[in-house]
Amino acid sequence: MPLEEYKKLRDFSKSPEPEGSDKKRSDNLFVVQEHDSSHLHYDLRLSLGGVLRSWAVPKEPPEKDSIKRLAIQTEDHPLEYAEFEGTIPDGIYGAGTVRIWDKGEFTIEEEKDDRLLFELKGKRLSGRYALIKTKFKGKGSWLFFKRK
Ligand code: MN
Repeated sequence: MPLEEYKKLRDFSKSPEPEGSDKKRSDNLFVVQEHDSSHLHYDLRLSLGGVLRSWAVPKEPPEKDSIKRLAIQTEDHPLEYAEFEGTIPDGIYGAGTVRIWDKGEFTIEEEKDDRLLFELKGKRLSGRYALIKTKFKGKGSWLFFKRK
């Protein structure tokens, strides 16, 4: 159950976030949501296997090559989350404001357990990107960068 963790972390009677459906579709899209929570960060989400695979990027995602960002993998989100903007109330998981920072077409080129190569066509993030698993900062750490 890919969304089990997502649902377990949330109380949908308190959060405006989408609960998600079991609809299986692949939208070939990505979204980056600026999340002004306890720490401002950017949530990168890629539509893969009927869910949004998700990473929290502590610094602004790279628009140019030569910049590598740490990306911490987080729980899969429902596809409906790609549309979500709003304020999650204080005191619950993810409290803070979510805004769409970039969004567009996503095309997977290579998918392995420790390596994703893909193309993004967004307004800010455009070109060929990579996510590579790293042991540098512990479990769930990846490096996110634009390829030359
Ligand atoms: Mn977040």
